[in-house]
Amino acid sequence: MESPMQDFAVIAVAYGGYISLVKFIPFLVLFFLWWPLIGWVYEDTERVETNRPLWTGAVLGAGVLAVLFWLLVPIYLVGMFIYVITVITGALVYVKHRNARVMDFDRVLTADHIKSLFSRSADQGSEMKNTVFITANKNEVELPQPRTPEFYGYKHCFELVTDAIWRRADTVTFTPGPQAYAVTYTVDGAAFQQPEITKEQMDFLLPFLKQIADLDTKERRKPQKGKFKVLRDKDTFEWEVQTAGSTAGEQIRLVRSLAESVTKLTDLGLMPEQFERLSAMRDLKEGLFIVSGPKRSGVTTTFYALIRNHDSYTNNINTLERRTSGVLPNVTQTIFDQAKSGVTFAEELARVIRMGPDIVGVADCEETKAAQAACSGAIDQKIVYVTLEADSVITALRKWMKLVGDRKLLSHGLLGICNQRLLRVLCTECKQAYAPNKELMRKFNLNPEKTKALYRAGKVLYDKHGKPSTCDHCQGTGFVGRTGVFELVMLNDDLKKVIRKAKTMQEISTEFRRAKMLLLQEQALRKVINGTTSINEMIRVLSPPKKSTPVGKAEP
Ligand SMILES: [Zn+2]
Repeated sequence: MESPMQDFAVIAVAYGGYISLVKFIPFLVLFFLWWPLIGWVYEDTERVETNRPLWTGAVLGAGVLAVLFWLLVPIYLVGMFIYVITVITGALVYVKHRNARVMDFDRVLTADHIKSLFSRSADQGSEMKNTVFITANKNEVELPQPRTPEFYGYKHCFELVTDAIWRRADTVTFTPGPQAYAVTYTVDGAAFQQPEITKEQMDFLLPFLKQIADLDTKERRKPQKGKFKVLRDKDTFEWEVQTAGSTAGEQIRLVRSLAESVTKLTDLGLMPEQFERLSAMRDLKEGLFIVSGPKRSGVTTTFYALIRNHDSYTNNINTLERRTSGVLPNVTQTIFDQAKSGVTFAEELARVIRMGPDIVGVADCEETKAAQAACSGAIDQKIVYVTLEADSVITALRKWMKLVGDRKLLSHGLLGICNQRLLRVLCTECKQAYAPNKELMRKFNLNPEKTKALYRAGKVLYDKHGKPSTCDHCQGTGFVGRTGVFELVMLNDDLKKVIRKAKTMQEISTEFRRAKMLLLQEQALRKVINGTTSINEMIRVLSPPKKSTPVGKAEP
């Protein structure tokens, strides 16, 4: 390195204009900055397996040319400018060449690379160390070596899971598209579109996810399922990875494993009079109650709460369920498994009933024989709770009538029916009051005297300088958690008679209304008026199901 330096110094000194120290020092500094570049290219050519003499020579040549320009151009600053541009151009041509030869994670000077140089330094590094992935086989995943495919898989997974947990997402869905994967989070039952991720990123993320969930990384078509855990500080989060092939590529879903919360009747969101009626069932000795709702509307939570309403120490309580949804203390829970037991659901239920319980819970009681057995139990000194998938009290009853087939048997022990939905609860930190317009008041039959203000999602908070920020309490979704809304009818002797005699469902429906049963929308409106939820949320939840559309774009 010394000898060319001396040569240049001589040239510089010989050329009259450069004797000035003020001009010579920048020259030296820029000249020395060029050397590490040559060194890096020299090393890098081997790493990316390209022609070393050619590229080192080219970058070196560009530098020599640049120095000559500088020396020959009479105006010093113009010469310096040409020098800098020439050296940078030479370097960029090489970077472009080498980036084309390597995979995404190994590229330099890309937006991701530059971002990673800054973010890796502080927070993320230590946070990544505080987060541990546990594989399906209960092994801890070690942080891989930086700048390897495993490291990028680990990093993408870490970022994804951290974000999903912060936003309280219970499902993350990746849908392959022509260029990228669409990402959707489900938070409190509502879908949120997130920024897309590239196919290349997925090439790192997917093998990593499959590996920690102990799935076959080579299998791209058959559906697979597996779990992994994330430990962070003192919290454990369990996720299930579900993959399946489609014509567009592999579809991936992450589902957070949450036990169906075992809550009390008081926490379901029942209106006071509804609570009173349901809670009174603990003093009854026999009868059947139907808990209904569409899929994922909180039916199991209500079912469990009704069972827990009974004292499990003084009563014998048995349930028959099709899958494990939660643990009820002091209750004998049987999970139906036809392959294992070799009997039908109805036979299994008969066995459970023969054990002589005081209270029987039957989840998804959607078979004729089982439905009849449940009805018989309900007139034989047992309290029976059954769940059905239905979108209203009337459709639940119609379904039950069809299943049981015998109106006398059915109506004799029937205590009541409820149907439910889950409404997201407005964030108390950022919800905003507004005066509803006349049209809205008319449409929902609201009393203008009583309803001065309604509430809607706020999403953004403003500090005292008027600066907006994302609400930390709801992560900008405007909602935190959900509450049930219930349509409920309890049957007296008159209504039982109506069920036995009615010629049409319409007739029954009319009588239920006459007995003051409020419809789901009327019940939901009460929660809108008291500020628990918004009109839009009510409309979203009560609209007939269609292909789920995301309710919002990703929040910053
Ligand atoms: Zn908020």
